[in-house]
Amino acid sequence: MKILFINLPYSGHVIPTIGLVRELMQKGCEVTYMLPYDWEDKVSNSGANFYGYPNHKQLAEQMKNAFAAAERIIEQYDFVIYEQFFFLGKHLAEKYNKPVARIFTAPVTNKTLMDAFIIAKGPLSIFKHKWIAKAFTKDISRGIPLKTDNWLDEIIYNPPRLNLVYTLREYQPYVDEFPEEHYKFLGPSIYDRKEVFDFKKKDRALIYISLGTVLKGSVNFFQNCVDAFRNENVDVIISAGQKFNAKKLKNIPDNVHIYKSVPQLEVLKIADVFVTHGGMNSVSEALIYGTPMVVIPFVSDQPVNAACIEKLGVGKSLDYAKVEPNTLKNMVYDVANNGEIIDNMRKVKQMIKDAPGNKGGAEMIIDYYNEIFDNKLKTKINDKYKI
Ligand code: UDP
Repeated sequence: MKILFINLPYSGHVIPTIGLVRELMQKGCEVTYMLPYDWEDKVSNSGANFYGYPNHKQLAEQMKNAFAAAERIIEQYDFVIYEQFFFLGKHLAEKYNKPVARIFTAPVTNKTLMDAFIIAKGPLSIFKHKWIAKAFTKDISRGIPLKTDNWLDEIIYNPPRLNLVYTLREYQPYVDEFPEEHYKFLGPSIYDRKEVFDFKKKDRALIYISLGTVLKGSVNFFQNCVDAFRNENVDVIISAGQKFNAKKLKNIPDNVHIYKSVPQLEVLKIADVFVTHGGMNSVSEALIYGTPMVVIPFVSDQPVNAACIEKLGVGKSLDYAKVEPNTLKNMVYDVANNGEIIDNMRKVKQMIKDAPGNKGGAEMIIDYYNEIFDNKLKTKINDKYKI
């Protein structure tokens, strides 16, 4: 089976899919991964063929370029996979009568969740103005018959039949709205990044603090982190970000170790608590390695993720406005020593082990394709597989 995999240049939407591509290839599929030319190295370790399109600063132009490039080659393929953000994936596949599956690298979005993402600031917040969302949609989808005039509604209300979601069913908010037959929860994407971290864990707790790769943490925030654990019998690793100038922090004690970036998976393996902004990847990685969390959410999906972590009982949420040394220290110790949280985390870790993962996801795609092929429904996909 020849698969065309279409994605947009956003790390969080690309990185989790590499494991799926590897599995598909191991099962004998040929995969061509589409991303902008300057993103080729991001997928080179997946073993897939690469097909590039011109990159652009603006999302609308990225989408148009991806669509145009896909149209040039789609006829050669048997199956189309797209990440949900590329909302024209289903239309493209239908136009060329190809079977299609959609990937969610975050929880599936219904209307309430989409509104929550938009309200929480971040890149999507501009679309709270309906006229901007409509103009954006019109610009990208010229000549394409959409179900709605708002691309966000298109993501919510026009699903393909097969949707693979990189989270646990237990994590997904409003899970009852997503029928099991059409929404397959694979669990977080797990694959070895082959990184090393030269840090010898001592016989005491290790706290890891990171606000991800996009947010720029303030001096005040990191100073609070440093002061919270001064004179405490713990080690603290802070990944402060590439742009942060650690020289601005005062009196850093020996037990606080500040880096611009760390191999996060290696750190999570040895950390006892993770203080995180609640980015989807960070949260998933902590669940995989069983590290309880203190989530300090800022924008986009982070507040929803913080709520999911509290719902699963594997961490607590802390309002950024309330972060000062004592509140942070108390919450970190509360999470580290909370038997219920540790027990819940053990259960979640097991659920992830039992979830289908990338291997199961690859099998689902192949089975779905075979089902269509066997039933000789290939010419009627559009009518037959709408839900
Ligand atoms: N990350 C890392 N080292 C660091 C900080 C972050 O490897 O020092 C990785 C982390 O493992 C995760 C990603 O960067 O895969 C952050 O993604 P997330 O969705 O959590 O947050 P974002 O950076 O998109 O806000």
